[in-house]
Amino acid sequence: MHKKVYFKTFGCRTNIYDTQVMIENLKDFSLSENEEDADIIVINSCTVTNSADSRARGYISKVNKLGKKIVYAGCGAVSKGESLYKDEKIFGIIGSSEKENINSLLKNKDRFYQIGDLNSIERTIVHNFEGKNRAFIKIQEGCDFKCSYCIIPHVRGGARSQDEMKILEQVKILTSNDFSEFILTGTNIGSYGKDKNTSLGKLLKKISLIKGVRRIRLGSIEPIQIDEDFSEILDEPWLEKHLHIALQHTNEDMLRLMRRRNSFKSDEKLLDNLSSKGFALGTDFIVGHPGETDERFEDGFKKLEMLPLTHIHCFTYSKRDGTASAAMSSQIKGDVAKQRLKKVVDLIDKKNYNFRKVTNSPLQVLVEEYKNGYFSGLDQYFNKILIKSKKDIDKKWVVLNDYKVKEDLNYAEF
Ligand code: SF4
Repeated sequence: MHKKVYFKTFGCRTNIYDTQVMIENLKDFSLSENEEDADIIVINSCTVTNSADSRARGYISKVNKLGKKIVYAGCGAVSKGESLYKDEKIFGIIGSSEKENINSLLKNKDRFYQIGDLNSIERTIVHNFEGKNRAFIKIQEGCDFKCSYCIIPHVRGGARSQDEMKILEQVKILTSNDFSEFILTGTNIGSYGKDKNTSLGKLLKKISLIKGVRRIRLGSIEPIQIDEDFSEILDEPWLEKHLHIALQHTNEDMLRLMRRRNSFKSDEKLLDNLSSKGFALGTDFIVGHPGETDERFEDGFKKLEMLPLTHIHCFTYSKRDGTASAAMSSQIKGDVAKQRLKKVVDLIDKKNYNFRKVTNSPLQVLVEEYKNGYFSGLDQYFNKILIKSKKDIDKKWVVLNDYKVKEDLNYAEF
């Protein structure tokens, strides 16, 4: 009988995808749905902050008590793998370039430490995303930016693009498996193509030509990466009417301290232009980064008020050892950062509500689940909607002309 493997995934969409790559390569094992029934537990870790490391360590202590073989993969394998391995807290290490060898590595009777390199990108084609109706496609790996607070380039390596033919082949396979919405992911997807003399805009056009592709969503893009090729596709019906543009801050001093490549002046112009084309706009924003005095925060907040944003991932800064920001003096107190976070989130919640109130196009929703009497899904603006229906619309596309806009969400009957 096959030994059973349980995957525990921490962190971002790229990690969710990487877990799927490992599952695709697991030929001589079966999957376990929980830790208790598993023989081996593979942790696909995240190391983005010191707290992410602590969460993974906490999980290791918990499952060690169950007496299972623990194998450590993901970004934390580079930053914390060696010490965990030496302390015998884990049985083996699988580095990023080794994940496609998981089948033979897990057969090892002896402990193993296969950290691999940070130059390659996987060749595996993911055929399915069990239980999901939106498919993730990883189009690139790594990042060449050097933002002062971020450890990612150190643990994922420099930016490199997936082969275009591989991406298109994968989309074709997934459309034949009934997927019609695609989410392009990667560490820094806007850098796609720089090493292959092409661009994200050109890739998107090619994906859109594949029969069965109805909507394409994108992960986070850097503002300076919206180039001519990308601008050409902004009116295409297959592109979701929502873009997530990572600003991280809106105060110029903070942007310099954070070693960002964007500036508020050009960000404002870009967002105003995209908003005039009807896009809902999301961003990442960090509050409480070292050096964020009251004046700098208030200036940044005033500028945020000016931007046509509709969604935000706002984080309180969390220290990451080994980064330039971690060594900066003038760290900000946790409670101050939390108050700032609330202020920013409340502002963007209001902006989102106002955006939904004035939107008048029919909503195109891919229904994702049925729970507590409601179907739910995301519309083209990345807003969730709850739908009452007597029909079985789970995993189907619906177009809603009539719906109610409430402060928390949109609601409809179908
Ligand atoms: S763009 Fe900056 S924040 Fe994003 S992964 Fe690269 S270094 Fe990190």
